[in-house]
Amino acid sequence: MSQRYDKQDKIGEGTYGVVYKARDLSTGATVALKRIRLDTEEEGVPCTAIREISLLKELRHDNIVKLLDVCHSERKLTLVFEYLEMDLKKFMDREANNLDAATVQKFLRDLLRGIQFCHQRNVLHRDLKPQNLLISRDKDLKLADFGLGRAFGIPVKKFTHEVVTLWYRSPDVLLGSTQYGTPVDIWSVGCIFAEMATGAPLFAGKNDADQLLRIFKFLGTPNNQVWPSMNHYPNSTNMLSKPEFLQNLVAECSHAFVNTAGYDKLGAEGVDLLLRLLRYEPSERISASEALNHPYFNISF
Ligand code: ADP
Ligand code: MG
Repeated sequence: MSQRYDKQDKIGEGTYGVVYKARDLSTGATVALKRIRLDTEEEGVPCTAIREISLLKELRHDNIVKLLDVCHSERKLTLVFEYLEMDLKKFMDREANNLDAATVQKFLRDLLRGIQFCHQRNVLHRDLKPQNLLISRDKDLKLADFGLGRAFGIPVKKFTHEVVTLWYRSPDVLLGSTQYGTPVDIWSVGCIFAEMATGAPLFAGKNDADQLLRIFKFLGTPNNQVWPSMNHYPNSTNMLSKPEFLQNLVAECSHAFVNTAGYDKLGAEGVDLLLRLLRYEPSERISASEALNHPYFNISF
């Protein structure tokens, strides 16, 4: 392992590990090594985890970062990925948070294609956000960082104290839903779509309640009509009875945001697609396949 890859700069440090740029001495290729420290309470990597990672290895698609190799020792798990230039967050920063309309459309299409491929195979991502989307030199977007810890039950050790971001979390999950399904990823796609257009996170909440409140202010306060399940989640009663929710009732989605900077890039079709990605009721959110057939993708910018 250590002989095969010549470790170079550190390129990222996320929740569960450190990512290094490295050179594969046997092929000359540049790769990314993701080192995950394991909680040593358990012995090594459970075989279920290895099986799940093998599954990820089979998840081959142009819009999913390629997992080339997996090495594990007792305390460490190293995943070897193809190397990509930068993540979407850095890309947006570099472009002064002002992507052009054609780039927004291209990235959304790439994102939906990657997610469609996963969803068709019953694989959820569960942590879609700009930092977990990589952009290649050819400006192709690829999904990365499939939430290993939660999805695979690997006894990973949290590496940093970085708080897991709430910004891309769906309202049903904020209310404690444990029914994780494909709509959870679709909500995140909606948030990322808006962020690419405007250059700023759509819902930059400071805590669970603030996160929900920001969503309500943008989409209108939900009711049983638009969100039949809203009162059936584990934390519905507790969260929704907070005074801030009662004081800030917004009748319905005012669409006022359409006149704020950035949304003009989407056109009326793009705004329609955005609102279909961001439905309160999870089962009413558009699927990745349907989204790819939305008229927004017929616009040529
Ligand atoms: P974590 O689970 O720690 O968030 P990630 O897989 O998201 O780990 O990696 C952390 C960061 O490292 C990413 O946000 C990205 O900037 C960088 N990175 C990850 N994988 C690659 C890769 N294959 N090529 C280039 N950079 C990468
Ligand atoms: Mg990450």
